[in-house]
Amino acid sequence: MFSRSDREAPCYAADMHEKLTAIVWDFDGTLVDTRRKNMNVARALVENITGRSADEFPALRSMPGYERALHRHRHWRDFYRVELGMQDSDIDRTQDNWLAFQLADETATETYDGIHEVLAAFAHLPQGIVSLNIKANILRFLEQLELAHHFHRVYGAECVQPGFQKPHPDALLRCIESLTGGEPGYVVSVGDHETDVECAHNANAHFEQAGVDLRVVSVGALYAPHIDDEHWRVEPDCKVEAPREIMSELAEVFARFP
Ligand SMILES: [Mg+2]
Repeated sequence: MFSRSDREAPCYAADMHEKLTAIVWDFDGTLVDTRRKNMNVARALVENITGRSADEFPALRSMPGYERALHRHRHWRDFYRVELGMQDSDIDRTQDNWLAFQLADETATETYDGIHEVLAAFAHLPQGIVSLNIKANILRFLEQLELAHHFHRVYGAECVQPGFQKPHPDALLRCIESLTGGEPGYVVSVGDHETDVECAHNANAHFEQAGVDLRVVSVGALYAPHIDDEHWRVEPDCKVEAPREIMSELAEVFARFP
């Protein structure tokens, strides 16, 4: 069921900019509110691997604590290492078991209010996902939430070599290439984490260096509660506090572009 304000979301994406060629989304915390599910999965994993109660770890005790801890780290492994004091070998086991624990967990998830409308407003453009989640898990969510038809490409964590995940631009560059064929223009990237913005900046540095007439326009998605972007060392082109603001904020950004 959509709220009144969702139905009123402006749908003028087709007129936004003639050089806009594609949209690339982060998944967790941007399209789908997976926070509680991911915390429950992390709690179960940590209890399984360490033999300790998840409540012993402040970063796993409450949603606000979990979210703030996640956003303190640029790499998910640092969350497990610093916040939970886990060794590399145990973090590897966490990674290996993530999908099985995701499939076993039955916590409900839903899209952020207004996401369906924004995706529909961009339906004339190819859209993709670049995520640190696992592709099979993302595809399962997309089917359950009836979002799959919006996306032409999905790049999960395992789609690039270890060490080449966000903020490295590898997956984003591959996604853009497959969505646009490298056509000159603008690609919008939407993400809720500092690493998403860094990834967009790194892709732009790559295009500049390669002399490619392509630019990633980054949107900071700050609509999940407890997001603190004050420590971000990079700035997106615009920030939104609700999905429905994406269209209007982007229109303002593109009004300044040639
Ligand atoms: Mg995210």
